[in-house]
Amino acid sequence: MEPQGVDEQAEELVRSMAGELTGPRAGECLACYVDRMLAEFGCDGKLRFALRYRDLRAPRASALTRRLGQIGGFCDCEIYLNGWILRTELALVQGDEPVQNLPRPPCQHVRAGSTKPCTNWARQPRYGVW
Ligand SMILES: [Zn+2]
Ligand SMILES: [Zn+2]
Repeated sequence: MEPQGVDEQAEELVRSMAGELTGPRAGECLACYVDRMLAEFGCDGKLRFALRYRDLRAPRASALTRRLGQIGGFCDCEIYLNGWILRTELALVQGDEPVQNLPRPPCQHVRAGSTKPCTNWARQPRYGVW
């Protein structure tokens, strides 16, 4: 079997992005959705999934890019490096030891049209400290 080329991988990603599997689940918040997509597809240096969520769920949230920038989220993964942290992870953070890859609790859901994180998430206390 031929190894899959980069082009085919990219095509497959585009195909799966177009599918319903990669859309937000019913009631799922922005933070849980982008976190779930990053685990699967990784960050491409842009707000790829955050803006996808907005387009699908909160098209009137025109200030989303600016608001995420205010918490240091200039691409999908930075939202979590600088902006939001799981409360379950926050409880375990000690000093500078990063806690990662904990199992994700199910999304606590937000109202339709909201771009706020659900109650699973808290603000990163270390933002700006780097
Ligand atoms: Zn990133
Ligand atoms: Zn959530």
